[in-house]
Amino acid sequence: MTIGKIVDAVKSGRILFSDGAWGTFLQKKGLKPGECPELWCVERPDDVLDVAKGYVKAGSDMIESNSFGGTSYKLEHYGLAARVAELNEASARISKQAIGDSGWVIASVGPTGKLLIMGDVTEQQLYDCFREQIVALEKGGADAVCIETMTAIDEAVTAIKAAKENTNLEVICTFTFEKTVKGDYKTMMGISPADAAKASIEAGADVIGTNCGNGIERMIDIVKEMRAFAPETPILVHANAGLPQNLEGVDVFPETPEDMANQVNELIAAGANIIGGCCGTTPAHIKAMKEAVKQ
Ligand SMILES: [Zn+2]
Repeated sequence: MTIGKIVDAVKSGRILFSDGAWGTFLQKKGLKPGECPELWCVERPDDVLDVAKGYVKAGSDMIESNSFGGTSYKLEHYGLAARVAELNEASARISKQAIGDSGWVIASVGPTGKLLIMGDVTEQQLYDCFREQIVALEKGGADAVCIETMTAIDEAVTAIKAAKENTNLEVICTFTFEKTVKGDYKTMMGISPADAAKASIEAGADVIGTNCGNGIERMIDIVKEMRAFAPETPILVHANAGLPQNLEGVDVFPETPEDMANQVNELIAAGANIIGGCCGTTPAHIKAMKEAVKQ
């Protein structure tokens, strides 16, 4: 609360650092395939707190929460749809406990897995589902919501509206792009970075950006396209530690903290204001990037 708004910090000219991957971190602590990560917020809170603290110690100005799959549509796969409020509130509380008043909790909200264009759900159902999660994240102490890994505009817009119309949280919305054979970037649903930026801003997002799917090198191109379209809006980037290489059935992310640090200033020059990591990144990656920017 005393720290003010993320957008104001960006407008004052600061480059801010976010956190890195949570999933891989929790797996190292023993999260098994098929286990619900969000349930750890109540069953293994100390381990979740440890992840959050790892990023605070690395120098993150803001950290996410262990709530990526915290919508009822995701939790129902584990028979936990009735515990949305409890699990999301706990996730935000843990992250707030880790960062205190020295930074922001940008609570994670991932896709529901339901597609409006396929008729899986109605817009109202999707809206209610996001509202339920995001209201609980605010109650748990989140400062902002990070709607991420989006590929469809209608789902992203519904989530942004649910946050804006029902909470006082700052709203970040990031999309995941893939490089096409033509060499440009599109989400799985065919959305370009410029289209994603436009839709996010029109729906009321305070911060736009991109996460996952790419290493930092490709994020530079994506950010350039978003920045050309949106000259004023803060841009957040959560890059993977490179493109995954499949080694004996396991995805390995090849980029070291130094590799990412070597490219971070170019990413900032392209227009990024908030830098963090996605799959494969660790506190060491965040620390190295932050140090590279200081120099
Ligand atoms: Zn990722």
